[in-house]
Amino acid sequence: MSAELLAFRDAVSGCTRCRLAQGRTQVVFGAGNPSAELMFVGEAPGFHEDKQGVPFVGHAGKLLEKLLGGIGLTRGQVYICNVLKCRPPGNRDPLPDEIEACEGHLWKQIELIRPTVVATLGNFATKLLSGRPAGITRVHGQEQEVDLGGNSVLLYPLYHPAAALYTPRMLEVLESDFRRLPELLGRSHERASGSEPQASVLEAPPELAVQLGLF
Ligand code: URA
Repeated sequence: MSAELLAFRDAVSGCTRCRLAQGRTQVVFGAGNPSAELMFVGEAPGFHEDKQGVPFVGHAGKLLEKLLGGIGLTRGQVYICNVLKCRPPGNRDPLPDEIEACEGHLWKQIELIRPTVVATLGNFATKLLSGRPAGITRVHGQEQEVDLGGNSVLLYPLYHPAAALYTPRMLEVLESDFRRLPELLGRSHERASGSEPQASVLEAPPELAVQLGLF
């Protein structure tokens, strides 16, 4: 982890900005590659995440790992975090004042990691990072360019894996939206380098694209 991100994680580990500090086992800051091009933002830690201090380690996390594997990536290659860094009691929805208290941590993470694609998982992350009220059912799979943490990034809303676990139709949509991630990462490379990538690279299967350093 980059020194600055590590220092920031240490600072956040004692956060008392909201009531969730009282019931947590620990702050779940985030995990993965500190200079990842692809960042996932979920909702809030659940029971297992609170115990282990790592985001997405339960059933939803297993699904996220499987989806990542499908595009030739591992969790260590991306960065995963949540809107809230502490578990709400009984896994209830985040409250507006908790999101307000915690969002500064997420903005700072984005500023330090500088991802080029940010995939929001579910309604809370999507609404917060898009700054718009449109729900995930309407906007999933539709990328948009936004300014986050001082950088232009492609924001890509996805259904939350926990919701998709119990709804087969939602899982199909999530799988299909997920398969577009290599293209979006390739596109952000194109923008960064200002050049057209070779057609053969764009058409390569995701595993090959990874090996070629496309993302
Ligand atoms: N759901 C989330 O949104 N985040 C986690 O870390 C785990 C489950």
